[in-house]
Amino acid sequence: MSRSFNSGIYHRYAVLQLFLLSLIFGTQTFGQTYIPGDTYFGDENYIEYKAGNLPIIISAAHGGGLEPSTIPDRNCTGCVYVKDAFTEELIRNMYDAIVDVFDCYPHVIINRLHRKKLDANRDIDEAADGNPIAENAWEEFQNFIELAKDSVEASYGKGLYIDLHGHGHDIQRLELGYRITKSALQEDDEMINMPANVNLASIKNLVVDNLMGLNLADLLRGQYSFGQMYEQKNYPAVPSFNDPYPENPDPYFRGGYNTERHGSRNDGAIDAIQIECNREGVRNTNAERQAFAEATAMVLKDYLETHYFSISSPATICDLISSTNNESRSTNNFVNVFPNPTSGNMSFLYTADHFNPFQVVIYNELGIEIRNFWFDSEDVNTFNIESLPAGVYHLLVRSSHFVNVQRIIKY
Ligand SMILES: [Zn+2]
Repeated sequence: MSRSFNSGIYHRYAVLQLFLLSLIFGTQTFGQTYIPGDTYFGDENYIEYKAGNLPIIISAAHGGGLEPSTIPDRNCTGCVYVKDAFTEELIRNMYDAIVDVFDCYPHVIINRLHRKKLDANRDIDEAADGNPIAENAWEEFQNFIELAKDSVEASYGKGLYIDLHGHGHDIQRLELGYRITKSALQEDDEMINMPANVNLASIKNLVVDNLMGLNLADLLRGQYSFGQMYEQKNYPAVPSFNDPYPENPDPYFRGGYNTERHGSRNDGAIDAIQIECNREGVRNTNAERQAFAEATAMVLKDYLETHYFSISSPATICDLISSTNNESRSTNNFVNVFPNPTSGNMSFLYTADHFNPFQVVIYNELGIEIRNFWFDSEDVNTFNIESLPAGVYHLLVRSSHFVNVQRIIKY
């Protein structure tokens, strides 16, 4: 007996091979390997990077509190020095919540310097005001984001970057920035979907390539928009289906330097959304931050599954990666498949105490799903791949208790 489990929906993913490569070698730069779940620091610990293995990157540019005397206070005309209160705490809550929900790690980049010393959401001149120590920290902050983007693109082909902020505006709602201006948002959907806006959008790649074929207006404020997903969790957000645009006298942040630089407006497949959090009910207290962080993790899961990845979850991909990468997560000895290489029949040998129904998915070298079936009984433990062309395949075996990836060769 067999049953279908998300059958036929891996087809968009010709990137399994890249997953496997990236997990074997990790994310490397300048000779350093970054291990998902580990934390790395720049000089003097001003910039913090938590390496990830999910297609999620989050940064907090304005939440830091460090005020080293070696960096003079910025002093530039029209500059902002106020920190976004509690956003460093909030991003740490988000990290924990995402790990809980996905059982894998987001990439997180934190500027721990106070905004008086470094504004990590401006170009370098305004950000560091000419101070070399601050300039160095700015470079580190930006480079960690670039590194995370490269890792996500290599493993998943696309992904989402969130730049987390806090606003002091009166209206208590999240302001979501896609680089689309307030006046553009006030137009009707047809106008919003004009190329002039699409070409400005920090989620341009998603407009071109999303699972439901939605247009920009849909993605900004439709039923399946990021804002509406927050609305459904009782966090008011603009733009969203319920609150499609900011009214004229109301202030609105459309996304700053990081959203513009790291989004997909210019190129690449990493989209960017700036979240400007209100205070009440979101970040004032630890309980509020924790609840909002948990909601955000669920929204991210929903958003990625709805628009990006036509599989059960990015966590599934991540499991593939982790199970072959990390000894502590690996259950590689749980199921042995033999003979390997084979010309036809393969058998399973269980080393588990109890039999659990398990699923087998066979991918070709490009990561395209070839076969997908379940073993529901311990009695049936062979399968036949005689009809497959000779070559290398990846065999994913999973049950409720384990996940396992093996490389098999058909000759
Ligand atoms: Zn900010």
